Amino acid sequence: KNGAIIVGTGHAGVQAAASLREEGFDGPVLLIGEENELPYHKPPLSKTFIKDAEARPQLLRGESFYSGNAIDYRPGLRVTGIDLAGRRLELAGAAPLAFDRLVLATGSRPRKLPIDGAGLAGVVSLREVADARLIRELSGACADVVVLGGGFIGLEIAATLRAAGRNVTVVEAMDRLLGRVVAPPIGQHVRQRLADMGVRILTGTTVSRLEGENGHVSAAVTSAGERLPAQLVIVGVGVVPNVELAEQAGLAVSNGIRVDAQMRTSVPEVLSVGDVASYRHWSTGGDVRLESVQNATDQARLAARTIVGGADAYGAVPWFWSDIGDMKLQMVGLTAGADSHLVVGEPQDNRFSVYHFAGDRLLAIESVNRPADHMLGRKMLGAGFSPSRQAVLEGADALKAAFA
Ligand code: FAD
Repeated sequence: KNGAIIVGTGHAGVQAAASLREEGFDGPVLLIGEENELPYHKPPLSKTFIKDAEARPQLLRGESFYSGNAIDYRPGLRVTGIDLAGRRLELAGAAPLAFDRLVLATGSRPRKLPIDGAGLAGVVSLREVADARLIRELSGACADVVVLGGGFIGLEIAATLRAAGRNVTVVEAMDRLLGRVVAPPIGQHVRQRLADMGVRILTGTTVSRLEGENGHVSAAVTSAGERLPAQLVIVGVGVVPNVELAEQAGLAVSNGIRVDAQMRTSVPEVLSVGDVASYRHWSTGGDVRLESVQNATDQARLAARTIVGGADAYGAVPWFWSDIGDMKLQMVGLTAGADSHLVVGEPQDNRFSVYHFAGDRLLAIESVNRPADHMLGRKMLGAGFSPSRQAVLEGADALKAAFA
């Protein structure tokens, strides 16, 4: 028996290994990843980690977890190819490994910026703990930071470094912040709040080139011709899925490795989960590739069940969070297809939620510092329950009563 091999030691890969054992899989489980760190949580890297010189990565599982569960964990190993016909993995600097089942949890990597100066020292994208250590080190010794991209990671870093006293400018190509991921009322609120903290925000603007001195970045020049001094430039312009292995092996790929409702790729012995997997969403009917811890771990659990013979379809409600300065943002559901929304609570109190509907159907809730709305929303959407607009406007008690 060759057992299961999991490629990738992020949130998805580690959960897949753990769930295989929880589901009673009794063959060998091999967990292979390129990084040389014990698997850790990524979200804190852009939040607490970069402001605390003493912070260490928060481990996903303790060191003894892997050997204790007979998970053969192999760090620092890069998979270079998949021989589908021979059911073997090719590795850099090691002999090939045979598998019965393969789980591709290769995640995503930061999108590169094709501009002059992108290769200068001091220009950093954040994905791994090594990047976070570099940002921590460089930001400690600089005055001016330019953040390219007004998405979650860029804004989290902007707020953190501003609170630490740096001059921070965010440059975003779209005309609003978080444009790809939240509704306008939330993006508008975040913008106002960051501006109040002293973060300078330029929307509808791009950076045309980066300038350097002695190989280190010294300024970012905008499309409007402004020269922004910068000793540290954070590139946060999104990620691309690590699909190359799958593509070279001939698995179906479109914006991610295509999987069915049981997380199987176009070759059923090969599954894929997490940031790299693209699938037809059970609620919207559209194709999605979600980048969140919830998506990675829920899909990994389901993939393990599929491997041991389960047949249930993926139906987890998507949710996500982000901490930007004093704003805890929480999102549940997907807003695609929404035709109206209700705002509950007061943006000026920095506490409000936006409920998105398609007709009478509740699709999603986006909250700022209203965790109770988020938690109830997870329950309601999980149960397929849509409250009336009236109940939403009347507040928590009416909502709970309607849902009970
Ligand atoms: P990854 O975590 O990317 O893991 C993939 C792993 O595969 C990597 O370790 C990589 O080295 C390895 N790998 C790839 N190719 C190979 C190969 N050929 N051979 C060997 N190994 C390989 N999500 C939230 O829900 N909330 C948040 O607040 C949040 N904040 C975030 C902050 C930051 C700074 C980052 C980077 C992400 C954040 N996310 C957040 C997103 C979340 O971390 C990702 O969705 C999640 O990590 C996806 O898990 P994954 O296992 O699919 O991929």
